[in-house]
Amino acid sequence: MSDALSHCCYIGLGSNLDEPLEQVTQALQELAALEHTTLLSASSLYRSRPVGPGEQPDYINAVAQLSTELAPEPLLNALQALEQAHQRKRLVRWGPRTLDLDILLYDNLQLNSQRLSVPHPFLAERNFVLLPLMEIAPDLALPDGTRIATLAQRCGNEGLIKLPPQR
Ligand code: ADP
Ligand code: MG
Repeated sequence: MSDALSHCCYIGLGSNLDEPLEQVTQALQELAALEHTTLLSASSLYRSRPVGPGEQPDYINAVAQLSTELAPEPLLNALQALEQAHQRKRLVRWGPRTLDLDILLYDNLQLNSQRLSVPHPFLAERNFVLLPLMEIAPDLALPDGTRIATLAQRCGNEGLIKLPPQR
């Protein structure tokens, strides 16, 4: 379903399993190929230390800016279909992810449904989301007016490494 108007949204990408660099690079291409959607920009890739308990491989993260005619729920459906396509390749175990695609921001929408919270609930505290966002949208603000730059400064860059451009 589409509503014909274009919306600006930001997607967080993450992977820590099965060649994460390739997973994220390929996912960016798949985002670019999504129906009713244009990939406007993509951040560098970043390597980040996993949050949460237990041993997990490092993550590769990136953020993409899309222009899309998809409404939030159809967009989530499309992202989850991409996640499924990646995870189907090899289902190893719970925890580590071959691909995680999160809707970080969707215009200035604030939404809390069973399936979807926008802005993404952890956006304000995750440097692996905030610093890539700063790269592609340094003047961006949350719907409540909080500037991404303020949040990025607050969270620092611990555990986060910006990777050089991939060939
Ligand atoms: P996480 O991203 O927190 O590691 P999952 O990717 O497994 O966990 O997502 C769990 C659920 O989060 C999804 O089924 C989806 O319905 C929900 N969800 C809520 N808000 C969002 C959002 N902004 N973007 C993506 N998924 C979301
Ligand atoms: Mg997710």
